[in-house]
Amino acid sequence: MRDRFWERIPPTKMTSEEWEALCDGCGKCCLNKLEDEDTQEVALTRVACRLLDDQTCLCGQYEIRKTLVPECIQLTPDTMKDVAYFMPETCAYRLLHEGKPLKSWHPLISGDPDTVHEAGVSVRGITVPEFEVDEEDWDDYIIDEPGT
Ligand code: SF4
Ligand code: SF4
Repeated sequence: MRDRFWERIPPTKMTSEEWEALCDGCGKCCLNKLEDEDTQEVALTRVACRLLDDQTCLCGQYEIRKTLVPECIQLTPDTMKDVAYFMPETCAYRLLHEGKPLKSWHPLISGDPDTVHEAGVSVRGITVPEFEVDEEDWDDYIIDEPGT
C-alpha cells in the first residue's frame, strides 16, 4: 500500500487492498438499523447481523457473505454517495466521503488493529444476534453509536 494513501489518493484510484484497508474493523455497519422512511432518520440497534462475531467485530464469512446475506451492502467508491448517510459517523469510508481525516484510533494511523476496540468505538461485547430477537422488538435495542 502506498504511504498515507488515504490522504492523497482519491477512492476511485485506490487499489482494492487500499480500499479494504480503510475499514477500521469497528463492526458498526453490521448492526441492524431502523430507518424512518419519511425523514430518512436512522436509529442504530445493537441487534447484529447473524454473521457478525461479537468479539472480533468481523464478519464470520466475509468471502461468501453475499451468498449468505444477500442484503449485505458492498461498499465501493461509486456507491458511497447513496449509502454514506446511514453509515456510522466514525466509519472511515464515510469520513473520507465527507472530506474528513481518519481518527487517531484508526489502525492505519495507530498501526494497531486493537486501538478501535480500546477507544470504545467498536461493537465488541455489546451485540445480540438477530436470530435471538424478533424484528418487531428491535426498537427495544436502540443504542447511541459507540464512540460518538
Ligand atoms: S462501519 Fe465502516 S469502518 Fe466500521 S466496520 Fe463498517 S465499513 Fe468498516
Ligand atoms: S454479512 Fe458480514 S459484512 Fe455483511 S452485515 Fe453481516 S456480518 Fe457484516
